[in-house]
Amino acid sequence: MKPENNTECLFCKIAKGEIKSDFIYEDDNFFAIYDIDPITPGHAMVIPKNHYKTFIDIPNTMGLELLDAIKKVTLKIISETQAESFNLMVVGEDVSHVHIHVIPRKKGDGIKPLVNLNRIAQVSEKAEI
Ligand SMILES: [Zn+2]
Repeated sequence: MKPENNTECLFCKIAKGEIKSDFIYEDDNFFAIYDIDPITPGHAMVIPKNHYKTFIDIPNTMGLELLDAIKKVTLKIISETQAESFNLMVVGEDVSHVHIHVIPRKKGDGIKPLVNLNRIAQVSEKAEI
């Protein structure tokens, strides 16, 4: 899908340098910045430079590069925060330009797990997966 031309988009303006932001990672098609309202310290976002509205709008041909960007940003944040784990999250309600949240996690950080692992285990047992 061809990226939209969205001159009012916050992340497009950051990608073009029209709004100054410190990139913690950058390659040809993606960049990463810290979230201005972090869920935990070190919470960052991996963002395509082109305006893709949702995750499914990102061309499959960019998949390996996206995976590489997410891994590099995650490893950087784990190293910087001494995180024990991390969550990845894709949401589109806040800014209509797909971004992948990388949220470092530590025991006792006060954040509820994003998924209920007990519930998944129960469903898996019923489905005999
Ligand atoms: Zn955009």
